[in-house]
Amino acid sequence: MPYLDYAASAPLKPAVLAAMADALAATGNASSVHRFGQAQRGQVEAARQQLADYFGVKPAGVLFTAGATEANNTLLKGARYAACVTSGIEHPSVLQPVPHATRVRVNADGVVDLGHLETVLKALPQPALLALMLVNNETGVIQPVQEAARIAKRYNALVHCDAVQAVGKLTLNLAALGVDSLSLSAHKIGGPQGVGALILADCGGGNCLPLTPLLEGGGQEMRRRAGTENVAGIVGLGVAIRQCGEDVGQQPLWQGWQARLEEKLMQAGGVVVAATSPRIATLSCVVMPGVPAETQLMAFDLAGVGVSSGSACSSGKVKASHVLQAMGVEEKLARCALRISFGWKTTLEELEKAIKVWETLRQRMPN
Ligand code: PMP
Repeated sequence: MPYLDYAASAPLKPAVLAAMADALAATGNASSVHRFGQAQRGQVEAARQQLADYFGVKPAGVLFTAGATEANNTLLKGARYAACVTSGIEHPSVLQPVPHATRVRVNADGVVDLGHLETVLKALPQPALLALMLVNNETGVIQPVQEAARIAKRYNALVHCDAVQAVGKLTLNLAALGVDSLSLSAHKIGGPQGVGALILADCGGGNCLPLTPLLEGGGQEMRRRAGTENVAGIVGLGVAIRQCGEDVGQQPLWQGWQARLEEKLMQAGGVVVAATSPRIATLSCVVMPGVPAETQLMAFDLAGVGVSSGSACSSGKVKASHVLQAMGVEEKLARCALRISFGWKTTLEELEKAIKVWETLRQRMPN
């Protein structure tokens, strides 16, 4: 049964499961001074080093959280800044903590408007905080974060990047991106659900970005996040990060798969959203005009194929996606958008099955 909803959550990788099983079987609190506790501490710090190496930061710049939602909230609610700028296509875990943020325009291709960003930054008090995602979770469009950060730095702004859908798709390095912080979630890259990280640049010599913790009541995570560490989850995240370079390497092959998938769906009446924009290979947002996403989802589910309408977070709601609306997609079309996303375990046969389901449904539905 094809599972084609990796952007919502990817299957756990076998090496992650094995490492987590060992970690779950171990006893002890990572804050305890005895040998049991110290063994747990060692596991947490080894994973911290793995993330630090991967993103090119100091270990002190890796703050483990319960996922990207918490990482985004921690940064947006805990950092000090005079005004906030974001885009209308961000995930709700970025949009809702800063309801008064100025929204930078996004063009019809799903890409943030850098000219407008500069105009907005010019008018705001300094230092502002810019929160911009690297890959959109509904369209797969890659945002020009590096250029946006360069502009933002001219106005002294802090830059936060939600990189949840970019990890395992693009090679990432905080200094190269020019951002001050980045958030990620383990379950999007074959790690476990409920664990993620906030990565902070420039954490050398105790110079980390000052953050007021969201959670108080313990000294864990260098006083930035109270509560006993989720050791097994953190171990799983470490292994998933170590392995995600393999997924980055698969992107050229997967680009071919995506091209075939989209070509077939277009031949059967589909309209690919942001077709000509820079996009990751493993996510396609396709509209079947005249057929509501709910109807499409049911047809796919009956055929045993798991896909999503818009983002999983908004599935089940009849509302059209805020991302497609921000891009100016007509509401009538936005309600007919399907998201197909795949990854490390997917076979070409599974994508072929999805194509068949689409073609059969298209033939059955009135135009
Ligand atoms: N940002 C983006 C772009 C996402 O796709 C998601 C997950 N849908 C999140 C943040 C939140 O991640 P989590 O639910 O794992 O906290």
